Amino acid sequence: MHCTNCSEHISDLAEICPKCGVRPYVTKNFCHSCGSSVNSNQAMCISCGTQLKEIKKTQTVDSTNPAIMGLLSFLLVGLGQMLMGQVSKGIVMLIVSIVLAFLTFGLSSLITTPISIIDAVLIAKKKQQGTQVGEWEFF
Ligand SMILES: [Zn+2]
Ligand SMILES: [Zn+2]
Repeated sequence: MHCTNCSEHISDLAEICPKCGVRPYVTKNFCHSCGSSVNSNQAMCISCGTQLKEIKKTQTVDSTNPAIMGLLSFLLVGLGQMLMGQVSKGIVMLIVSIVLAFLTFGLSSLITTPISIIDAVLIAKKKQQGTQVGEWEFF
């Protein structure tokens, strides 16, 4: 395939173009099939007729939106944290909340869910301000 950013011929499996350092399909300047110049609005390459892939969104969820992260952590304890890069912390929070809920017949969720929400909101706010957040940092 060709790099969609600089038209360099690259491996089909290449995660990043060795020439320009951009991930394929993040930009849409060239056809991935024949390497001819295309417009980012084009759905199909005029030169070879290949269906052009849509520009890949680097992030599907806005992981710095405190409202969204709080909501996700309300739906599932630790989910917001996991999406913000605190994967181990989010998983541990989820496991602990499930174990506690099992032991207390669900009563513990009255405590673990608000903690999860508040933590997700505060961590998202820190990220929004550009503060570096450690994997195990709380609140
Ligand atoms: Zn390139
Ligand atoms: Zn083409």
